[in-house]
Amino acid sequence: MPPFNKNESVNKQKLELLTYPNLPEKSLNDETGKTLPGDREYDNAMDTAQTQTERMTRFLAGDKSANGAFLVGVLTTGIYCLPGCPARKPLPRNIVFVESPAQAREMGLRACKRCRPDAFYAGRNPDGQQLTALAEAVRHDPGAFAHVSDIAAASPWGVTKLTGLFRAHYGVTPAAFLMQARVQAVVCLLRDPRRPVLEAGFEAGFDSASAFYRCFRQVTGCAPGEYQKRGFFSPHHAY
Ligand SMILES: [Zn+2]
Repeated sequence: MPPFNKNESVNKQKLELLTYPNLPEKSLNDETGKTLPGDREYDNAMDTAQTQTERMTRFLAGDKSANGAFLVGVLTTGIYCLPGCPARKPLPRNIVFVESPAQAREMGLRACKRCRPDAFYAGRNPDGQQLTALAEAVRHDPGAFAHVSDIAAASPWGVTKLTGLFRAHYGVTPAAFLMQARVQAVVCLLRDPRRPVLEAGFEAGFDSASAFYRCFRQVTGCAPGEYQKRGFFSPHHAY
């Protein structure tokens, strides 16, 4: 078979056969011709085959907009590339699709020196960088954020996207993150044994005594006054 290059039109059916030679045969209800229940395995295999076909099409076309969506491992040379790599395209039978640089390295593949996939992945998460800075600002001064909407206002995102990012990166909602940051700030303030407890709560951004006491107990397991008296941060004073 001649090598593919980006000038050749890609025959999708041929690619399906190349990438998925063992697709299970579809079983049909004889009377209706509809798929029988229990054919999920077939449907999953079809989804995978379609994804593989689409990836192959984009890779062979040198589609730069596919960079970041998946990686291409070349088994004959042992390297992995971005889909839009300008190097000559390998034979389709010699490639595998990989989800991440880490997965490619686990397979023993090396990063291509032309398209530099590792550099691409390292620089492509601006959301992550902005989120880290925002979370740091919240931890540093939770009293400056009265509500989750104030966190959103300090970010380039709306509350929905903000919530998704916090859940993905910190495993909690922005509201829970803010509450924990407040409690943490109070803990620091209460290292001073003369600091009035309630004043510390308000300074950290709690807007009512009841919310303060409830949240503090929820995070630390005890009341703020008790926490301060026990001198958790100076063990020789404890009890
Ligand atoms: Zn490359």
